[in-house]
Amino acid sequence: MNNILPAGLLIIICAPSGTGKSTLISLLRKDFPQFQFSISYTTRTPRPGEVHGRDYFFVSKEKFLELQKKDFFAEWAKVHENYYGTPKNAIFEALKQGKDLLFDIDVQGALQLKNNLQQGVYVFIFPPSLEELKNRLLNRATDSKEQIQIRLKNAQKEIEQASVFDYWIVNDDLKKAYLELKSIIIAEKLKPQYHPFLIKRILQK
Ligand code: ADP
Ligand code: 5GP
Repeated sequence: MNNILPAGLLIIICAPSGTGKSTLISLLRKDFPQFQFSISYTTRTPRPGEVHGRDYFFVSKEKFLELQKKDFFAEWAKVHENYYGTPKNAIFEALKQGKDLLFDIDVQGALQLKNNLQQGVYVFIFPPSLEELKNRLLNRATDSKEQIQIRLKNAQKEIEQASVFDYWIVNDDLKKAYLELKSIIIAEKLKPQYHPFLIKRILQK
């Protein structure tokens, strides 16, 4: 019993591109600094300010496919023309050490992870409407018109798969959506499985 560590929470957050997932995750990372962030491998080129090993591990397509063949990824997917994958080792390490781990992955990846790990809390964030999603993508001004069309088409497919997620949040009002996301984490962390020593500690004389 003594060498049992409290279990870590695996939280997987998905949303169609432009919904506000990065905005919400950056708020979470400030409020929950104990959360580790699963750093994915990707074949896309780094954006200004992105750091290899902090934001992503940026690798060539050849390297990615070599790792994929070696069964290195817990899940992987082609998203908006690039490959992305979650390394298994970081998950096993976090589970071994009882650390909480946050995943920012797409819906295809979340479905694979749910199937492969059989654990975790899966949160889907909806935009208020496809029209508002388009406005956010246009206002963010980081993608070409063609990219925005691809993202909107993907958004529809992703939303159609939302029923397999454990929680749904609509990011209409950011403050409200963040409060809901935070509440999910707080409630999940109150489950007995995350407090294996509590009863023993309280009953100690
Ligand atoms: P994602 O990571 O899901 O692609 P971002 O976090 O980059 O999305 O957000 C897309 C854009 O929408 C950004 O310009 C962001 O400031 C804005 N945004 C995020 N949440 C809201 C909200 N609730 N209302 C209006 N705009 C929002
Ligand atoms: P971006 O290129 O904008 O950082 O991410 C594009 C999309 O890829 C986002 O929806 C993001 O959640 C997703 N993504 C990032 N890492 C992974 C990963 O390891 N696996 C999968 N399946 N998707 C990922």
